[in-house]
Amino acid sequence: MAKRRVPTEFIIVRDKDKCIECQACVRMCANDVHFYDESLNKVFSDDSKCVGCHFCEMLCPTNAISIVRNPSEFKQNFNWKSETI
Ligand code: SF4
Ligand code: SF4
Repeated sequence: MAKRRVPTEFIIVRDKDKCIECQACVRMCANDVHFYDESLNKVFSDDSKCVGCHFCEMLCPTNAISIVRNPSEFKQNFNWKSETI
């Protein structure tokens, strides 16, 4: 059976050409969004935990991170707003 997935509010875009794997974002995000995979020597993110504070975006030394609002929205009507869904 297919797994249902609620779209995240924010999407973390990391420019892999700019990222130097310094892990500053891993250390400073209070929500543990970013994590380092030692075997791949890469930093990844779990978008579902991001609250959109833009702190990592401001502190990244190479401007590799962009936090963007997820453009995927639920169709809203009088009874069903996205917050309710
Ligand atoms: S702070 Fe920026 S450069 Fe450093 S690991 Fe995170 S995204 Fe990469
Ligand atoms: S925007 Fe804030 S919550 Fe989201 S990943 Fe960056 S520091 Fe963490």
